[in-house]
Amino acid sequence: MCGIVGYVGSQQAAPLLLEGLGRLEHRGYDSAGIAVLGPGKESRLRMAKKAGRVRDLTEELPKRFAGRVGVGHTRWATHGPANDLNAHPHLDTKGDVAVVHNGIIDNAAALRAELTDAGVDLVSDTDTEVLAHLIGRSEAETLEEKVAEALARVEGTYGLAVLHAAFADRVVVARNGSPLIIGIGDHEMFVASDLAALVRYTTRVAHLDDGELATITAEGFTTYRRDHGGVSAVPRTATEVDVDPAAYDAGEHESFMHKEMLEQPEAAERVLRGRLDERFGTSHLGGLEMDARDLRAIRRVKVLGCGSAYYVGQMGAGLVEELARIPADAEAASEFRYRNPIIEPDTLYVAVSQSGETIDTLLAVQEIRRKGGRVVGLVNVVGSAIARECEGGIYLHAGPEVAVASTKALTNMFLGFTLLALQLGRVRDLSIADGRRLVAGLQRLPGQVAEVLAGEPDLVAPAARLAEAESLFFVGRVRGYPVAREGAQKFKEISYRHAEAYQTSELKHGPLALIDPRVPTVAVVPHDELTDRNVGALHEVAARGGPLVVVTHAEVDLGDLPSQASVHRIDVPRNERELDPILLTVPLQLLAYHAAQSLGHDIDKPRNLAKSVTVE
Ligand code: GLU
Repeated sequence: MCGIVGYVGSQQAAPLLLEGLGRLEHRGYDSAGIAVLGPGKESRLRMAKKAGRVRDLTEELPKRFAGRVGVGHTRWATHGPANDLNAHPHLDTKGDVAVVHNGIIDNAAALRAELTDAGVDLVSDTDTEVLAHLIGRSEAETLEEKVAEALARVEGTYGLAVLHAAFADRVVVARNGSPLIIGIGDHEMFVASDLAALVRYTTRVAHLDDGELATITAEGFTTYRRDHGGVSAVPRTATEVDVDPAAYDAGEHESFMHKEMLEQPEAAERVLRGRLDERFGTSHLGGLEMDARDLRAIRRVKVLGCGSAYYVGQMGAGLVEELARIPADAEAASEFRYRNPIIEPDTLYVAVSQSGETIDTLLAVQEIRRKGGRVVGLVNVVGSAIARECEGGIYLHAGPEVAVASTKALTNMFLGFTLLALQLGRVRDLSIADGRRLVAGLQRLPGQVAEVLAGEPDLVAPAARLAEAESLFFVGRVRGYPVAREGAQKFKEISYRHAEAYQTSELKHGPLALIDPRVPTVAVVPHDELTDRNVGALHEVAARGGPLVVVTHAEVDLGDLPSQASVHRIDVPRNERELDPILLTVPLQLLAYHAAQSLGHDIDKPRNLAKSVTVE
């Protein structure tokens, strides 16, 4: 969460920082701010910051804002409201130090009290401001040591970037739990919390690890490890990243979410490419680093993720149980590590995260590893913290996902789980015929996703009708239940309507009391062994006047629903029944999207949310 950018070089920093912040805005959009170090020996720090969007800051930026060294920030507020004063950067009392920060300082209250007792006047409500004062008051000689000394007092998570008027040739950055990437240019250097802000300028990057600091100057970078309040240099080699800068542009699309939904067929092809084995009806997953014997030794699978990654994890656990007949379940990573989980040696833990930086999932991974468990990752961003922390994994190859609401990464997570479940199944009792049936199903799937997407125009009107309701149900059973959960999640995230997911079977045990003509139900009804029961429940809803949107297969007969009932039916192509969940999910993305559109919401930047949740 939150975007950080920094620049040192021969160009004016402010326009570059603002451009970079614009590209990171999906990670936090409560406020924006930049600071630069002015030219000359007696360098002065200039700062501009403002609640609201980057474009508001750009419009109001003072004319004179020269400086070739600078930092910038977009905020996702954790401490104090989203106002001008709490916007980053934060300065020390003298105005020599500027700090931008992503994360949470856990002992901020104690440090604020200590600083106040020492006569420091704190001007914001944030946890971040203490860092600026601690650095400003440090008597250490170098800026690196000042930052390290301040960090020695701090408990919590951070990615931060620091300017100091007395060290006007550099930006010092530090990382503990929040991403930071150094971008290497030609006599200029960049830093950012996400590759998105760098790719227009350079594809040569170096990652920072937790507990490390780095200095960037126009001529290069040095990385350090903090030790005993000081710093010692550690070597780091830069790597070349293979990205297409165009992937970070929405192009002719009205939003990133729309672009990313439409990219799903090609993204799906990428995650499957080279991984399907038609001959043996299985998959190849070299990145798992497990041979057949390791796979056979697994007695249980536990999936951990947050938000949509948790719901798709539930679909994945279902696939593992169905194909491999190993007990499997999914749990919210944000809860898991707080209940002193029992870690078993023969359980395979699977951590799921688009960004690979989701702090709750990362901390769950660290807890599992600390207790000796084996954890693999299903991650989109190559080289991200979770990818590096896991023992192996499956990269999702969805390409950069910018919209807060996940679509193509989620589809690829489902496919990643299918590949894993297939392999776990094929070293056990899943027959070669079933394996081949599923491989063929996977090969058909990208084309079928494209077919569902082609039906988009038919969904605009029903989505707008759903958007009129204050409250909705999304229901499904067994394979369809996580689909309903993900559908409700997407709907509430971007339309801000109350959307609640329920097992269809549970409707009559409670929520049916809420059904009336103002409360629509979106029902997931695949053609499978539960169709009749699902259809029965739809009749119970219709009999109470509840409007229905049914995501189903052409083969399903909905029976004689009351003539006055409002029913909209969406038929999706059938695949193998194990693979149907993802095809049933795609129309729910489109419904959420067009509901939010009809309400005029900013779809890529939903209220109160942000991409990559890097705060606990
Ligand atoms: N905790 C800091 C604040 O509330 C930083 C939040 C962020 O990551 O944007 O300002």
